Amino acid sequence: MDGRLRRWSGDRKTGFRVGFSGWRMSSISTQVDVLIVGYGPVGAAVACLLGKLGVRTLVIDRSADILQMPRAIALDNEALRILQMAGLREGAFQVRAIPRVRYLSPYAGEFARINSCGSLDGHPKLVTFYQPELERVLRECVGRHATVETATGVEMLGFSDLGDSVRAELKLADGTTTFVAARYLVAADGAGSMVRKAIGQDFQGRTYAEEWLIVDAERPDQALDDIEFICDPRRPTPHMPAPGQRERWEFMLHPGESRERMEEEGTVRTLLAPYGNVQDMKITRKAVYRFHARTCERFSRGRVHLVGDAAHITPPFVGQGLVAGLRDAANLSWKLAWVLRGSAGDGVLESYDTERRPHAKAMIDLARFMGHLIMPRSRIKACLVHGTVRALRVLPYFRAYFDDLRIKPKNSFREGLFAPSSRRSGSLPGSWLPQGMVRSGDGTLAPSDDVLGDRLVLLGCGADPAAHLCESSMRAWQAAGGAIVRVEPRGSEARGASFWEDLSDVLVPGAATVGRVLVVRPDKTVMHEGATSECERLVRESLALLGIPGSPTPVRQPARAP
Ligand SMILES: Cc1cc2nc3c(=O)[nH]c(=O)nc-3n(C[C@H](O)[C@H](O)[C@H](O)COP(=O)(O)OP(=O)(O)OC[C@H]3O[C@@H](n4cnc5c(N)ncnc54)[C@H](O)[C@@H]3O)c2cc1C
Repeated sequence: MDGRLRRWSGDRKTGFRVGFSGWRMSSISTQVDVLIVGYGPVGAAVACLLGKLGVRTLVIDRSADILQMPRAIALDNEALRILQMAGLREGAFQVRAIPRVRYLSPYAGEFARINSCGSLDGHPKLVTFYQPELERVLRECVGRHATVETATGVEMLGFSDLGDSVRAELKLADGTTTFVAARYLVAADGAGSMVRKAIGQDFQGRTYAEEWLIVDAERPDQALDDIEFICDPRRPTPHMPAPGQRERWEFMLHPGESRERMEEEGTVRTLLAPYGNVQDMKITRKAVYRFHARTCERFSRGRVHLVGDAAHITPPFVGQGLVAGLRDAANLSWKLAWVLRGSAGDGVLESYDTERRPHAKAMIDLARFMGHLIMPRSRIKACLVHGTVRALRVLPYFRAYFDDLRIKPKNSFREGLFAPSSRRSGSLPGSWLPQGMVRSGDGTLAPSDDVLGDRLVLLGCGADPAAHLCESSMRAWQAAGGAIVRVEPRGSEARGASFWEDLSDVLVPGAATVGRVLVVRPDKTVMHEGATSECERLVRESLALLGIPGSPTPVRQPARAP
């Protein structure tokens, strides 16, 4: 299919024919810049990010309310950082830091462990949370943006990519239909995405044969601190604590065990019995799922972009499904905003798929690998696999690989919207800039991402880029949504109002040495870097990468070794 589910007669130039027979005028906008289909956590995150950038957005969901099913429970520091970018303050929703993830075998004892204690980029490395609360908070955040309109109980029935816009048919809560024209369609419509199917991007990959019963319960005397994977081939059971006296168990079903039977209260209580006094537990949610490890061939087609579960689904063995969706949201949103405001050519949108798809796939592959550890098929396999991993951990290299989470694919790109660099250390173009605390000349403390803001930043490390730019380059930079920020090593003498002192050593000397300049995208990916004396070139080449009219044609980046 070519992405045209349905076509309606209409004027392609004006986009929309108001008064088309068969639909009624409604209070929903009929013309927006971005239509987001799906107001789950990923759609809501995209809406927040677009709202912060002032993009005229309509977000719809066919459900009247937030889904209450037991789903995501763990988030990593990257997800929390993106939620910070989306506008959520620390403490906006309850989290519980997880110090360790332990893998337990009935035959080899604790055969693997991940040390998740501490923080990275200003956020705990691993937390548990309550998804409906996060979604509620995200929706409140969306509500603060005047340019974002939300409509629940509204289903998208079909759409048509007209080349210069997308036209969508919506079924409103009262059963009537209406049409909306948007410059871009963001499909956050979940695993069963009708948009993905319509643009011919069927999922490829694996669906697991096993089903899992997910049980959430609350008990006052909860004593668990760590996430534990009980990798018993007889009944693998991940078990984890969550905020507010909550706890989760995931029980793998045996062949022949039916969904209905497993969701019965009596069955659940029998399964929970080994974990304490079941009378003290309040079972709040239970559901049987079958897991999938699947993604599609392209995240974008024409004016349509898939995000979150619509683009990829992963078993929750590494807690990365929603996290991957949030990475999609951060990567795509600013690119849409820049194109819509004319600060970038629409070619930059191609880099969304180039950058995000390989990383999403790498996370799915990691989840599949962990699946082998968590659910060995037999006692012999369990002894072999768990024993081998335990033995390997004697070697410092392998221990660090697991324990210090080096096994987790880095959020850096091989190809995409960045310039190559010959540097070997610091933050390389295509990777995330670290975040630390910075202090202004007047003593104000702030996380560095908040200082960089939703802008394209020329970040001078112990140097002032402005002093090295001619007037016309400065104007071009500002016209492209560019700003200049200067950060100095800790203890430097205050120089002027735009001075920020790096209190954490993660920017200078961490990300770059004194005298270097980094070009940082609004999603905090480093786009370019060079010496202060090369500022003119950095600006020129960055604008070219953005495809700004009048700039030289951007050069496609060769693949970089991982
Ligand atoms: C048991 C389990 C445990 C998990 N654990 C973790 C974890 O620990 N960490 C983690 O990161 N992830 C985890 N995940 C994955 C995570 O829950 C999902 O990745 C995430 O919820 C997907 O969000 P989404 O916004 O992409 O999709 P969804 O939340 O599914 O939202 C899609 C929305 O689109 C709407 N919609 C669909 N079609 C239409 C239409 N035609 N018109 C209008 N609206 C439409 C739906 O009503 C829905 O609200 C887990 C998942 C499961 C099942």
